[in-house]
Amino acid sequence: MKRTGFFSDETCFWHVGQPHVGPLPVGGWVQPTAGASLPESPDSKRRLKSLLDVSGLLAELVCHSAPAAYEEDLLRVHTPDYLAAFSVLSAAEGGTMGPQASFGKGSYDYARKSAGLVMRALDMVLVGELDNAYALSRPPGHHCLPDQAMGFCFLANIPIAIEAARFRHGISRIAVVDWDVHHGNGTEAIFYDRADVLTISIHQENCFPAGFGGTERRGVGAGTGYNINIPLLPGGGHEAYVGAMEKIVVPALMDYRPELIIVACGFDANAFDPLARMMLASPTYRYLMSRIMDVAEICCAGKVVAAHEGGYSEAYVPFCGQALIETMADHKTASWMRSNPLSHFSNLPPASRPFRT
Ligand SMILES: [Zn+2]
Repeated sequence: MKRTGFFSDETCFWHVGQPHVGPLPVGGWVQPTAGASLPESPDSKRRLKSLLDVSGLLAELVCHSAPAAYEEDLLRVHTPDYLAAFSVLSAAEGGTMGPQASFGKGSYDYARKSAGLVMRALDMVLVGELDNAYALSRPPGHHCLPDQAMGFCFLANIPIAIEAARFRHGISRIAVVDWDVHHGNGTEAIFYDRADVLTISIHQENCFPAGFGGTERRGVGAGTGYNINIPLLPGGGHEAYVGAMEKIVVPALMDYRPELIIVACGFDANAFDPLARMMLASPTYRYLMSRIMDVAEICCAGKVVAAHEGGYSEAYVPFCGQALIETMADHKTASWMRSNPLSHFSNLPPASRPFRT
């Protein structure tokens, strides 16, 4: 078994996607009310943690929370004006900081906690206290720009953690593999002109944000060749992801030789997700993580951190996460095969259409 860290915090489930209304004085120890049902609810994440607990896997992991990211950590990525505006709105009743990026009271602090979980996961893996780690970060981060929130993302969790790790540990080659079904436009933008961070995004073509994520986006200046987009046609399924990994991602990682691999780990490519159509079952997440771990074993003594991004099927995200974290921990629980509604997908169907690169 691996020493696998699991980083989570109850307050990450308290972030809500709309400003506060009503008489309840939320804030402090009063959890914000969720209001109308929104796609980015805490339930898929909370239920993932619940399944880890019920299956017995959580007891095998090294569980931690983390301090919220400090302002100096955020300022390595975000502009002071953006952080000030976010902080002021959060201290009032919440508001909107960009397209599909509304929030309720207190979300600045919840987002700082989310970034802090990823930061501490990197720290503990880099110093060797853990072999690898999963951060159940919420709100997510991969759409967020330095000066604008976007697509449920308010702070760029992974770039914040990378900059902190570069500052504290002096590492110089980090790879980010983003298999959230939506394009990782924020991470791409932040590192687009740099060679010290290789960014790879596998996503459903032209899903969100529309018009982003094309193969022609390879980086600029010193970063030319260090951004790789792999847009897949809707419905591609398991075989499309195998093609993307074996033909592009694994060779690119082996060529780059990163000192750490970070996975922007969305589960919204699963077959039940309401926001996309990539038709994966949970065994694909087992495969994807196993290949990342293969490369990490060769390049960087197995150092892998996965940070939670999207995934909106409350029923199925937990099983995808369970499969992935079992793979990281090299520990399969007895309950998993009995309770996974798609566990009979041992022979996955072939892709109906080829992937596009
Ligand atoms: Zn997504």
